[in-house]
Amino acid sequence: RGNNAEREVPFAQPGSLTRVYAVASGKGGVGKSSVTVNLAAAMAADGLKVGVVDADIYGHSVPRMLGADGKPTQVENMIMPPSSHGVKVISIGMFTPGNAPVVWRGPMLHRALQQFLADVYWGDLDVLLLDLPPGTGDIAISVAQLVPNAEILVVTTPQQAAAEVAERAGSIAVQTHQKIVGVVENMSGMPCPHCDEMVDVFGSGGGARVAEGLTRTVGAEVPVLGSIPIDVRLREGGDEGKPVVLSDPDSPAGSALRAIAQKL
Ligand code: ADP
Repeated sequence: RGNNAEREVPFAQPGSLTRVYAVASGKGGVGKSSVTVNLAAAMAADGLKVGVVDADIYGHSVPRMLGADGKPTQVENMIMPPSSHGVKVISIGMFTPGNAPVVWRGPMLHRALQQFLADVYWGDLDVLLLDLPPGTGDIAISVAQLVPNAEILVVTTPQQAAAEVAERAGSIAVQTHQKIVGVVENMSGMPCPHCDEMVDVFGSGGGARVAEGLTRTVGAEVPVLGSIPIDVRLREGGDEGKPVVLSDPDSPAGSALRAIAQKL
């Protein structure tokens, strides 16, 4: 469709009952996508109607982690998203041939996101999760414009350097007037396989530091929603397309993620 025929984003309309969470991080590789898919799967398992937009356009990885290997179909002029484990999901990777890279500038990203939000038939969702790219780039700004009511969920590791960057990513909420729902600390130590003692591979305290910093910056309480340990089962779950909250819900990472999902 032409640019003049843009549909409105249903989630941004007054009276929309869908809670929208934009999952953000400062750096890549901190587990933002893993957290997104596990929260989505946990909420769907709890009976909620859940959708995920893979808005990490260049680094899209959500469909694989959710095991969503179906293709979107077109019905009239709407896109029907595939679903997996009860979660509807859309990703740019579903529209690019093979593993071709996405080589776009900012305005194209905005347009893609607009279509993911308005031209995809989501139905009545209880929750929509957006997996943002790391950092404070075009997409974060587009999300704020297209869905101003989206609340930001910040993922960080315990490491000082990662926490500083994560705090910057979260603090765009001040400019965009968005609410920050909380901070999730991921990779918070690893139980030693021999003696079970916790090894703080990435240090400690990053989640609390980000939450305190953001509380000061935005002038409203930003809580730490939970900490997730390093857990091989979480990585395996992502690789196999079955999030750990489903494949091993009582594992340390699985139970931590389920507890966070309960708070949203
Ligand atoms: P991001 O979205 O921030 O780039 P990913 O979710 O893709 O990060 O995670 C990066 C890698 O780290 C993935 O291979 C993922 O399986 C792994 N990973 C993330 N969190 C954990 C964890 N708590 N324990 C073990 N592996 C993890």
